[in-house]
Amino acid sequence: MRNRRAALAAIAGAASLALTLTACGQNSEGGSEEDKGSSEGATIGIAMPTKSSERWIADGNNVKKLLEDKGYKTKLAYGEDDPDQQVAQIENMITQGVKALIVAAIDNKSMNNVLQQAKDADIPVISYDRLILGTENVDYYASFDNEKVGELQGTYIVEKLGLKDGSKKGPFNIELFAGSNDDNNTRYFFQGAMNVLQPYIDKKQLVVKSKQTELNQVTTLRWDGGTAQKRMDDILTSAYRSDRVDAVLSPYDGISIGILSALKSDGYGTKDKPLPVVTGQDAEVASVKSIIADQQSMTVYKDTRELAKVATGMVDALLNDKKPETNDTKTYDNGAKVVPAYLLEPVAVDKENYQKAVVDSGYIKESDLN
Ligand code: BGC
Repeated sequence: MRNRRAALAAIAGAASLALTLTACGQNSEGGSEEDKGSSEGATIGIAMPTKSSERWIADGNNVKKLLEDKGYKTKLAYGEDDPDQQVAQIENMITQGVKALIVAAIDNKSMNNVLQQAKDADIPVISYDRLILGTENVDYYASFDNEKVGELQGTYIVEKLGLKDGSKKGPFNIELFAGSNDDNNTRYFFQGAMNVLQPYIDKKQLVVKSKQTELNQVTTLRWDGGTAQKRMDDILTSAYRSDRVDAVLSPYDGISIGILSALKSDGYGTKDKPLPVVTGQDAEVASVKSIIADQQSMTVYKDTRELAKVATGMVDALLNDKKPETNDTKTYDNGAKVVPAYLLEPVAVDKENYQKAVVDSGYIKESDLN
Protein backbone atom coordinates (compact mmCIF):
# COMPACT_ATOMS: atom_id res chain seq x y z
CA MET A 1 0.00 0.00 0.00
CA ARG A 2 1.31 3.40 -0.88
CA ASN A 3 2.13 5.82 1.93
CA ARG A 4 -0.57 8.31 1.16
CA ARG A 5 -3.17 5.58 1.05
CA ALA A 6 -1.93 4.06 4.25
CA ALA A 7 -1.97 7.45 5.92
CA LEU A 8 -5.41 8.20 4.59
CA ALA A 9 -6.81 4.91 5.71
CA ALA A 10 -5.33 5.37 9.15
CA ILE A 11 -6.68 8.83 9.74
CA ALA A 12 -9.96 8.45 7.95
CA GLY A 13 -11.48 6.67 10.92
CA ALA A 14 -10.41 9.26 13.45
CA ALA A 15 -10.51 12.59 11.71
CA SER A 16 -13.09 14.15 9.54
CA LEU A 17 -12.66 13.08 5.95
CA ALA A 18 -12.97 16.61 4.66
CA LEU A 19 -10.11 17.71 6.84
CA THR A 20 -8.01 14.75 5.81
CA LEU A 21 -8.54 15.42 2.16
CA THR A 22 -7.77 19.09 2.53
CA ALA A 23 -4.63 18.34 4.47
CA CYS A 24 -3.46 16.02 1.72
CA GLY A 25 -4.22 18.56 -0.96
CA GLN A 26 -6.85 16.35 -2.58
CA ASN A 27 -10.01 17.70 -4.03
CA SER A 28 -13.13 16.63 -2.25
CA GLU A 29 -14.64 14.68 -5.10
CA GLY A 30 -15.26 11.11 -4.18
CA GLY A 31 -15.71 11.59 -0.44
CA SER A 32 -15.08 8.35 1.40
CA GLU A 33 -14.45 6.73 -1.94
CA GLU A 34 -11.22 8.74 -2.13
CA ASP A 35 -9.03 5.73 -2.89
CA LYS A 36 -11.20 4.54 -5.68
CA GLY A 37 -11.85 8.08 -6.87
CA SER A 38 -8.15 8.82 -7.05
CA SER A 39 -7.38 5.95 -9.37
CA GLU A 40 -10.49 5.89 -11.49
CA GLY A 41 -9.94 8.02 -14.52
CA ALA A 42 -6.53 9.00 -13.15
CA THR A 43 -3.90 10.27 -15.54
CA ILE A 44 -0.79 8.15 -16.03
CA GLY A 45 2.44 9.65 -17.32
CA ILE A 46 4.33 7.67 -19.95
CA ALA A 47 7.91 8.74 -20.73
CA MET A 48 9.47 7.06 -23.77
CA PRO A 49 13.04 7.58 -25.00
CA THR A 50 12.85 8.27 -28.72
CA LYS A 51 10.75 8.10 -31.83
CA SER A 52 13.78 7.24 -33.91
CA SER A 53 13.14 3.55 -33.44
CA GLU A 54 9.94 1.69 -34.29
CA ARG A 55 9.80 -0.26 -31.11
CA TRP A 56 9.46 2.79 -28.87
CA ILE A 57 6.72 4.25 -31.03
CA ALA A 58 4.84 0.97 -30.71
CA ASP A 59 5.60 0.81 -26.97
CA GLY A 60 4.18 4.30 -26.41
CA ASN A 61 1.06 3.55 -28.41
CA ASN A 62 0.49 0.16 -26.80
CA VAL A 63 0.89 1.46 -23.25
CA LYS A 64 -1.38 4.42 -23.95
CA LYS A 65 -4.08 2.28 -25.49
CA LEU A 66 -4.06 -0.36 -22.76
CA LEU A 67 -4.32 2.30 -20.06
CA GLU A 68 -7.11 4.08 -21.88
CA ASP A 69 -8.93 0.75 -22.28
CA LYS A 70 -8.78 0.44 -18.50
CA GLY A 71 -10.35 3.88 -18.10
CA TYR A 72 -7.22 5.93 -17.39
CA LYS A 73 -6.15 9.11 -19.08
CA THR A 74 -2.57 9.35 -20.31
CA LYS A 75 0.20 11.82 -21.00
CA LEU A 76 2.74 10.38 -23.40
CA ALA A 77 6.05 12.12 -24.10
CA TYR A 78 9.15 11.20 -26.09
CA GLY A 79 12.50 12.55 -24.88
CA GLU A 80 14.13 12.32 -28.31
CA ASP A 81 17.25 10.79 -26.81
CA ASP A 82 17.95 13.90 -24.75
CA PRO A 83 18.11 13.01 -21.03
CA ASP A 84 17.47 16.61 -19.86
CA GLN A 85 14.43 16.86 -22.05
CA GLN A 86 13.09 13.60 -20.68
CA VAL A 87 13.59 14.71 -17.08
CA ALA A 88 11.78 17.99 -17.84
CA GLN A 89 8.92 16.05 -19.39
CA ILE A 90 8.57 13.88 -16.29
CA GLU A 91 8.72 16.95 -14.01
CA ASN A 92 5.92 18.40 -16.05
CA MET A 93 3.84 15.26 -15.68
CA ILE A 94 4.32 15.35 -11.91
CA THR A 95 3.24 18.99 -11.81
CA GLN A 96 0.21 18.11 -13.86
CA GLY A 97 -0.84 15.57 -11.24
CA VAL A 98 -0.27 12.17 -12.84
CA LYS A 99 -1.04 9.31 -10.47
CA ALA A 100 1.64 6.92 -11.74
CA LEU A 101 4.60 6.99 -14.07
CA ILE A 102 5.86 4.50 -16.63
CA VAL A 103 9.39 5.45 -17.63
CA ALA A 104 11.72 4.04 -20.28
CA ALA A 105 14.79 6.07 -19.38
CA ILE A 106 17.24 7.57 -21.84
CA ASP A 107 20.02 7.89 -19.27
CA ASN A 108 19.38 5.50 -16.42
CA LYS A 109 21.36 7.59 -13.97
CA SER A 110 19.67 10.92 -14.66
CA MET A 111 16.48 10.29 -12.76
CA ASN A 112 17.36 10.68 -9.07
CA ASN A 113 15.98 14.18 -8.54
CA VAL A 114 12.88 13.84 -10.60
CA LEU A 115 12.00 10.48 -9.05
CA GLN A 116 12.42 12.02 -5.61
CA GLN A 117 9.80 14.54 -6.68
CA ALA A 118 7.59 11.64 -7.75
CA LYS A 119 8.12 9.95 -4.41
CA ASP A 120 7.29 13.16 -2.53
CA ALA A 121 4.05 13.36 -4.48
CA ASP A 122 3.44 9.65 -3.77
CA ILE A 123 3.49 8.70 -7.43
CA PRO A 124 4.54 5.09 -8.07
CA VAL A 125 7.11 4.53 -10.80
CA ILE A 126 7.42 1.60 -13.17
CA SER A 127 10.79 1.29 -14.86
CA TYR A 128 9.89 0.22 -18.38
CA ASP A 129 12.25 -2.08 -20.30
CA ARG A 130 15.36 -0.25 -19.02
CA LEU A 131 16.20 -0.27 -15.33
CA ILE A 132 16.59 3.12 -13.66
CA LEU A 133 19.67 3.11 -11.45
CA GLY A 134 20.78 4.64 -8.18
CA THR A 135 17.44 5.50 -6.63
CA GLU A 136 15.06 3.73 -4.28
CA ASN A 137 12.19 5.48 -5.95
CA VAL A 138 11.53 2.83 -8.54
CA ASP A 139 8.70 0.55 -7.53
CA TYR A 140 8.69 -2.16 -10.19
CA TYR A 141 10.57 -3.15 -13.31
CA ALA A 142 8.91 -4.59 -16.42
CA SER A 143 11.28 -5.96 -19.02
CA PHE A 144 12.58 -8.99 -20.89
CA ASP A 145 15.24 -11.40 -19.76
CA ASN A 146 18.00 -9.09 -20.96
CA GLU A 147 20.91 -11.45 -20.42
CA LYS A 148 19.06 -14.07 -22.44
CA VAL A 149 18.85 -11.58 -25.34
CA GLY A 150 22.64 -11.54 -25.49
CA GLU A 151 22.86 -15.30 -25.08
CA LEU A 152 20.56 -15.77 -28.07
CA GLN A 153 22.79 -13.49 -30.16
CA GLY A 154 26.01 -15.22 -29.05
CA THR A 155 24.56 -18.68 -29.53
CA TYR A 156 23.36 -17.82 -33.01
CA ILE A 157 26.87 -16.78 -33.99
CA VAL A 158 28.61 -19.93 -32.71
CA GLU A 159 25.94 -22.13 -34.28
CA LYS A 160 26.09 -20.44 -37.67
CA LEU A 161 29.88 -20.60 -37.75
CA GLY A 162 29.73 -24.33 -36.99
CA LEU A 163 31.68 -23.94 -33.75
CA LYS A 164 28.94 -25.11 -31.49
CA ASP A 165 28.49 -28.58 -32.96
CA GLY A 166 32.22 -28.81 -33.64
CA SER A 167 31.77 -29.14 -37.42
CA LYS A 168 34.20 -26.19 -37.83
CA LYS A 169 37.08 -25.26 -35.63
CA GLY A 170 37.88 -21.77 -36.89
CA PRO A 171 39.59 -19.53 -36.21
CA PHE A 172 36.93 -17.07 -37.27
CA ASN A 173 37.16 -13.30 -37.00
CA ILE A 174 34.51 -11.53 -35.01
CA GLU A 175 33.87 -7.91 -34.00
CA LEU A 176 31.80 -6.85 -31.03
CA PHE A 177 29.30 -4.02 -30.68
CA ALA A 178 27.29 -3.04 -27.62
CA GLY A 179 24.50 -0.57 -26.94
CA SER A 180 24.52 2.81 -25.23
CA ASN A 181 26.64 3.00 -22.11
CA ASP A 182 23.93 4.94 -20.26
CA ASP A 183 21.39 2.16 -20.75
CA ASN A 184 21.56 -0.52 -18.07
CA ASN A 185 20.37 -3.17 -20.55
CA THR A 186 23.60 -2.76 -22.48
CA ARG A 187 25.71 -4.59 -19.95
CA TYR A 188 23.20 -7.43 -19.62
CA PHE A 189 23.02 -7.91 -23.38
CA PHE A 190 26.80 -7.85 -23.66
CA GLN A 191 27.32 -10.11 -20.68
CA GLY A 192 24.85 -12.63 -22.06
CA ALA A 193 26.59 -12.68 -25.43
CA MET A 194 30.06 -12.90 -23.92
CA ASN A 195 28.99 -15.79 -21.68
CA VAL A 196 28.66 -17.72 -24.92
CA LEU A 197 31.47 -16.16 -26.99
CA GLN A 198 34.26 -15.80 -24.44
CA PRO A 199 35.15 -19.52 -24.20
CA TYR A 200 35.70 -19.56 -27.99
CA ILE A 201 37.75 -16.35 -27.79
CA ASP A 202 39.83 -17.95 -25.04
CA LYS A 203 40.42 -21.01 -27.25
CA LYS A 204 41.29 -18.68 -30.16
CA GLN A 205 38.51 -20.18 -32.25
CA LEU A 206 37.12 -16.66 -32.35
CA VAL A 207 39.53 -13.78 -32.88
CA VAL A 208 38.73 -10.11 -32.36
CA LYS A 209 41.24 -8.50 -34.69
CA SER A 210 40.48 -4.94 -33.55
CA LYS A 211 41.34 -6.13 -30.04
CA GLN A 212 38.34 -4.16 -28.80
CA THR A 213 36.77 -6.62 -26.40
CA GLU A 214 35.94 -4.62 -23.29
CA LEU A 215 32.46 -3.22 -22.89
CA ASN A 216 33.76 0.36 -22.62
CA GLN A 217 35.53 -0.05 -25.99
CA VAL A 218 32.51 -1.32 -27.89
CA THR A 219 29.51 0.73 -26.72
CA THR A 220 27.46 2.86 -29.12
CA LEU A 221 26.15 6.08 -27.63
CA ARG A 222 22.33 6.29 -27.84
CA TRP A 223 22.29 3.11 -29.94
CA ASP A 224 23.02 5.24 -32.99
CA GLY A 225 23.36 3.34 -36.28
CA GLY A 226 25.55 6.04 -37.83
CA THR A 227 28.00 5.85 -34.94
CA ALA A 228 28.19 2.09 -35.33
CA GLN A 229 28.69 2.41 -39.08
CA LYS A 230 31.64 4.77 -38.51
CA ARG A 231 33.20 2.42 -35.96
CA MET A 232 32.80 -0.55 -38.32
CA ASP A 233 34.35 1.50 -41.16
CA ASP A 234 37.33 2.29 -38.95
CA ILE A 235 37.75 -1.32 -37.86
CA LEU A 236 37.58 -2.62 -41.43
CA THR A 237 40.20 -0.11 -42.51
CA SER A 238 42.57 -0.68 -39.62
CA ALA A 239 42.25 -4.38 -38.80
CA TYR A 240 40.97 -6.11 -41.95
CA ARG A 241 43.22 -5.05 -44.80
CA SER A 242 43.88 -8.65 -45.83
CA ASP A 243 41.51 -10.59 -43.59
CA ARG A 244 37.81 -11.00 -43.59
CA VAL A 245 35.35 -10.57 -40.75
CA ASP A 246 33.13 -13.63 -40.24
CA ALA A 247 30.73 -12.45 -37.56
CA VAL A 248 29.61 -9.22 -35.93
CA LEU A 249 27.83 -9.16 -32.60
CA SER A 250 25.29 -6.37 -32.89
CA PRO A 251 22.91 -5.64 -30.01
CA TYR A 252 20.18 -3.79 -31.91
CA ASP A 253 18.71 -3.70 -35.42
CA GLY A 254 19.47 0.00 -35.97
CA ILE A 255 23.12 -0.70 -35.19
CA SER A 256 23.07 -3.78 -37.45
CA ILE A 257 21.86 -1.67 -40.37
CA GLY A 258 24.79 0.72 -39.81
CA ILE A 259 27.25 -2.17 -39.61
CA LEU A 260 25.87 -3.72 -42.79
CA SER A 261 26.26 -0.40 -44.63
CA ALA A 262 29.92 -0.25 -43.64
CA LEU A 263 30.43 -3.86 -44.73
CA LYS A 264 28.75 -3.31 -48.09
CA SER A 265 30.83 -0.18 -48.71
CA ASP A 266 33.87 -2.34 -48.12
CA GLY A 267 32.78 -4.83 -50.78
CA TYR A 268 31.11 -7.46 -48.61
CA GLY A 269 27.97 -9.10 -49.90
CA THR A 270 29.32 -10.86 -52.97
CA LYS A 271 29.95 -14.54 -53.66
CA ASP A 272 33.67 -14.06 -53.10
CA LYS A 273 33.26 -11.88 -50.08
CA PRO A 274 30.06 -12.92 -48.31
CA LEU A 275 28.57 -10.87 -45.52
CA PRO A 276 29.46 -12.03 -42.02
CA VAL A 277 26.90 -13.34 -39.56
CA VAL A 278 25.29 -10.18 -38.14
CA THR A 279 22.94 -10.29 -35.16
CA GLY A 280 20.35 -7.75 -34.05
CA GLN A 281 17.45 -7.07 -31.75
CA ASP A 282 13.86 -5.78 -31.88
CA ALA A 283 12.56 -7.33 -35.10
CA GLU A 284 12.23 -3.92 -36.74
CA VAL A 285 10.66 -4.00 -40.19
CA ALA A 286 13.84 -2.86 -41.98
CA SER A 287 15.83 -5.61 -40.30
CA VAL A 288 13.29 -8.36 -40.93
CA LYS A 289 13.38 -7.30 -44.59
CA SER A 290 17.16 -7.42 -44.43
CA ILE A 291 16.98 -10.94 -42.97
CA ILE A 292 14.65 -12.04 -45.77
CA ALA A 293 17.17 -10.56 -48.24
CA ASP A 294 20.02 -12.61 -46.66
CA GLN A 295 21.84 -9.57 -45.28
CA GLN A 296 21.29 -9.32 -41.52
CA SER A 297 21.33 -12.87 -40.13
CA MET A 298 19.03 -12.72 -37.15
CA THR A 299 17.25 -10.47 -34.72
CA VAL A 300 15.87 -10.95 -31.24
CA TYR A 301 12.12 -10.52 -31.14
CA LYS A 302 10.68 -9.12 -27.97
CA ASP A 303 6.91 -8.88 -28.05
CA THR A 304 6.52 -5.34 -26.79
CA ARG A 305 2.74 -5.77 -26.80
CA GLU A 306 3.22 -8.17 -23.90
CA LEU A 307 5.57 -5.76 -22.17
CA ALA A 308 2.95 -3.03 -22.36
CA LYS A 309 0.45 -5.44 -20.80
CA VAL A 310 2.78 -6.19 -17.92
CA ALA A 311 3.63 -2.55 -17.22
CA THR A 312 0.05 -1.31 -17.41
CA GLY A 313 -1.07 -4.23 -15.28
CA MET A 314 1.45 -3.14 -12.66
CA VAL A 315 0.11 0.40 -12.64
CA ASP A 316 -3.46 -0.79 -12.43
CA ALA A 317 -2.61 -3.10 -9.53
CA LEU A 318 -0.76 -0.39 -7.62
CA LEU A 319 -3.54 2.14 -8.03
CA ASN A 320 -6.02 -0.42 -6.77
CA ASP A 321 -3.96 -1.45 -3.76
CA LYS A 322 -3.06 -4.80 -5.23
CA LYS A 323 0.40 -6.29 -5.48
CA PRO A 324 1.70 -6.38 -9.04
CA GLU A 325 2.74 -9.78 -10.36
CA THR A 326 6.50 -10.34 -10.49
CA ASN A 327 8.64 -13.29 -11.51
CA ASP A 328 12.11 -12.05 -10.52
CA THR A 329 12.96 -10.47 -7.20
CA LYS A 330 16.72 -11.07 -7.27
CA THR A 331 18.41 -10.04 -10.49
CA TYR A 332 17.81 -6.34 -10.88
CA ASP A 333 19.78 -4.50 -8.24
CA ASN A 334 19.79 -0.84 -9.24
CA GLY A 335 22.42 0.15 -6.69
CA ALA A 336 19.86 1.39 -4.18
CA LYS A 337 17.59 -1.65 -4.02
CA VAL A 338 16.68 -4.85 -5.80
CA VAL A 339 13.76 -3.83 -7.95
CA PRO A 340 11.04 -6.49 -8.19
CA ALA A 341 10.64 -7.36 -11.83
CA TYR A 342 8.49 -9.17 -14.32
CA LEU A 343 10.63 -10.48 -17.16
CA LEU A 344 9.35 -11.72 -20.51
CA GLU A 345 11.10 -14.18 -22.82
CA PRO A 346 12.96 -12.99 -25.93
CA VAL A 347 12.94 -15.13 -29.09
CA ALA A 348 15.69 -15.55 -31.71
CA VAL A 349 14.35 -14.91 -35.21
CA ASP A 350 15.96 -15.59 -38.57
CA LYS A 351 14.82 -16.41 -42.09
CA GLU A 352 13.60 -19.83 -40.96
CA ASN A 353 11.10 -18.71 -38.35
CA TYR A 354 10.33 -15.03 -38.98
CA GLN A 355 7.01 -15.86 -40.61
CA LYS A 356 5.73 -17.78 -37.63
CA ALA A 357 7.30 -15.59 -34.97
CA VAL A 358 6.62 -12.07 -36.12
CA VAL A 359 4.13 -12.24 -38.99
CA ASP A 360 1.69 -14.96 -37.88
CA SER A 361 1.73 -13.49 -34.38
CA GLY A 362 0.57 -10.17 -35.84
CA TYR A 363 3.64 -8.26 -34.64
CA ILE A 364 4.52 -7.19 -38.18
CA LYS A 365 2.09 -6.99 -41.07
CA GLU A 366 3.04 -9.16 -44.03
CA SER A 367 2.33 -6.19 -46.32
CA ASP A 368 4.98 -4.10 -44.48
CA LEU A 369 7.60 -6.63 -45.54
CA ASN A 370 6.90 -6.33 -49.26
C1 BGC B 1 16.04 -2.05 -25.49
C2 BGC B 1 16.22 -2.67 -26.83
C3 BGC B 1 16.49 -1.62 -27.86
C4 BGC B 1 17.53 -0.62 -27.41
C5 BGC B 1 17.66 0.53 -28.37
C6 BGC B 1 17.20 -1.17 -25.18
O1 BGC B 1 17.07 -0.62 -23.92
O2 BGC B 1 15.89 -3.07 -24.51
O3 BGC B 1 15.09 -3.41 -27.18
O4 BGC B 1 16.98 -2.24 -29.02
O5 BGC B 1 17.22 -0.14 -26.14
O6 BGC B 1 16.47 1.23 -28.47
